[in-house]
Amino acid sequence: MTDISISIDGQPVAVPTGTSILDACGTLDIETPTLCHAATLEPAYACRACVVEVGEGALIPACARRVQEGMEIATTSERVTQSRRMVFELLGSTTNLARADADILRWSEELGAVTDRFGTPADGNKRGVPRPGHHSNAPTGSAATVHEPVKIEDDVYVRDYSACILCFRCVDACGEQHQGTFAIATAGRGFDARISTEFDAALPDSACVYCGNCIAVCPTGALVGKIQWDLRQADRWDPSRQETKRSVCGYCGVGCNLDITTQDGRIVEVASPDDHDVTLGNLCIKGRFGWQFVYADE
Ligand code: SF4
Ligand code: SF4
Repeated sequence: MTDISISIDGQPVAVPTGTSILDACGTLDIETPTLCHAATLEPAYACRACVVEVGEGALIPACARRVQEGMEIATTSERVTQSRRMVFELLGSTTNLARADADILRWSEELGAVTDRFGTPADGNKRGVPRPGHHSNAPTGSAATVHEPVKIEDDVYVRDYSACILCFRCVDACGEQHQGTFAIATAGRGFDARISTEFDAALPDSACVYCGNCIAVCPTGALVGKIQWDLRQADRWDPSRQETKRSVCGYCGVGCNLDITTQDGRIVEVASPDDHDVTLGNLCIKGRFGWQFVYADE
C-alpha cells in the first residue's frame, strides 16, 4: 500500500493510503479529543471534538477525513483549540458529567473549557424541550428542558439520560455494528432528539436482550450497571479501592475474556477488553451480568 506524506503540527510523517487524520495523529502520539469515536466502533462523525485545520475554509473532523498527499494539518492552532473548547463548554452546560470517562474531564480541563459558560444542567439549561408527560423544571426565560426521569426498570442497568451527549455509540453497539438487536435508536428531532427504545417502552418490554454492550461503549455513564449506580448513590463507589483481573467466561465454549472488577474484594462490574479479537469488548447477558450467584446464600 502506498504511503502518503503529510505533516502534522510541522512534523513530517508518512502513513498508508486510507489512514484517517485521527489515526495519523496517533502515529505521532498526538492525542486528539473524541466523544463519538470508540475503539471498537465506526465513528458517528457527530461530536466535532476532534476537528483540525487543513488549510480549507472550514475545520474538519479528524475521524472522518482520510489523509491526502501533502496535507498540512494543524491540531493546536488557536482556531482548533477554540472550536474544541466550545464543544466541551456546550457539553458541560447541558449534561451531567459526574460519571463521565476520565479522559472527557481531562480534555475539558486541558482545553480551558468553562463548563458552566452557558449555564449548568441544574439551571434547567439541558438539551431539549418538554415532551408530553415529561415535566420541565426550566426557570422562566431559560432554555426548556427534556426532563426524563432516571430510568431504573430492572436490577441490571440504569439509564440516566441527563448524562447523555448523543454520541450514538450505544445505538451503533446495539445495532448493526455489534449486537444486531436494534433495541434503541434516536427518537425526536432537533432539541428533542434523544436515545429511546421503540415507542419509549420500558427496557424489560423492549427488544433489549440485556447484553450490556451499550454500557460498555457509553462514555458518560448515562448507561451504568445497577450495582455501580447503587454504590454511587450511597457515595461508596471508589475506583481507588478497586482492582481488575482478567479471566475467561465459563458459561460456554466461546471463551470470552472477562475483566472482573472488585471493590473491597466483592465483584462490582464485569467487562471484556476492547482488544480481545473474539469479543471486541462485547459480552452476552450471562458473561456480563450472570455472576451474582457468587454471592448467593444457597
Ligand atoms: S443491553 Fe444490549 S440489547 Fe439492550 S439496549 Fe444495550 S446493547 Fe441493546
Ligand atoms: S447513552 Fe451514552 S452511548 Fe448512548 S448516546 Fe448517550 S452518551 Fe452516547
